[in-house]
Amino acid sequence: MKQEGKRDIRALTKEELRNFFTEIGQQPFRGNQIYEWLWSKGSHNFDDMSNISKETRELLKETFVINHIEVDSLQKSNDGTIKNAVKLHDGLIVESVLIPTKKRTTACVSSQVGCSLDCKFCATARLKRMRNLNPDEIYDQVVAIHRESMLYHDRPLSNIVFMGMGEPLMNYKNVLASIDKITSDEGLGMSPKRITLSTSGVPKMIKKLADDGVKFNLAVSLHSAIQETREQIMPFAKSFTLEDLQESLEYWYSITKKKITYEYVVWKGINDAPHDIDALVRFCGYVPCKVNIIEYNPIDDGDFQQATNEALDAYISELERNHIPVTVRRSRGKDIDAACGQLANKS
Ligand code: SAH
Repeated sequence: MKQEGKRDIRALTKEELRNFFTEIGQQPFRGNQIYEWLWSKGSHNFDDMSNISKETRELLKETFVINHIEVDSLQKSNDGTIKNAVKLHDGLIVESVLIPTKKRTTACVSSQVGCSLDCKFCATARLKRMRNLNPDEIYDQVVAIHRESMLYHDRPLSNIVFMGMGEPLMNYKNVLASIDKITSDEGLGMSPKRITLSTSGVPKMIKKLADDGVKFNLAVSLHSAIQETREQIMPFAKSFTLEDLQESLEYWYSITKKKITYEYVVWKGINDAPHDIDALVRFCGYVPCKVNIIEYNPIDDGDFQQATNEALDAYISELERNHIPVTVRRSRGKDIDAACGQLANKS
């Protein structure tokens, strides 16, 4: 059947679907039924829609397509982590990851194909940003991982982190639209408290999140609280300075009253000296926060190396001495290149 010129039905709001049915002389509630099939039931096929007449289904097929993702391949790590290579309707690929722990099952989803930023330590940065993901492409990743969680671990998804490929705040509108769907009762009905958006730190957009009254958690990939060092490892920080970041985080907290999580990797010779720790402690004084120290996942070049355990311990004890909560995140799924910063469509 010819696909050209047909609209993606999943790009329509419920209201637009209702209007479509009014325009073709049918009851608008048909729009609600279709919406339910598309979203809460996750159907990708008009023929599944058993409460819609065959005639209407044929008309829908002539007018619309249902664009959706497909899990192209699936890799399982020996620690239970599962990485999906997800094919989009135009053939591009992104990756998403299911991370099971004792207490949680977390979906790590992508927000862009490639990434527009240039963090020197991240494999995704080596792929050019090809395009933003649509809200439904983000939503579908969550649904696919939820199904895998049920299938392989016999429990539903408990958390979602926007820590896959891409910078979510550079695809603001679509990421927020996907979260609306994920949290709405007509989608997955998940609590926003279980969702964390991780950003490299785009000050203007952090303020916008606060203005838009979002209820999910915010994590910021800090990695250094010294402007000069941060610019070296995350060159976009020349335009998005620590000073602006600080101001935006103060704004975020004044409105949301929500603590920030700083993600932080400690590298040998880059940010493992006492003055690096002092700068972080100072930065942590600006807004209530916690620090999540992430293990470095090597991405086949020698520029970055995980710091020694002594350096990590120095960070931990200094943060604790200053009453700043700190956790250490061990890598998951390293053997299948599914850990933080390793998503690069290698397969
Ligand atoms: N663009 C967003 C989300 C994607 S990255 C952001 O920057 O926050 C998710 C997390 O992995 C970030 O904290 C990022 O800095 C970190 N990361 C990137 N490359 C890494 C690597 N090689 N090892 C460990 N963490 C890495």
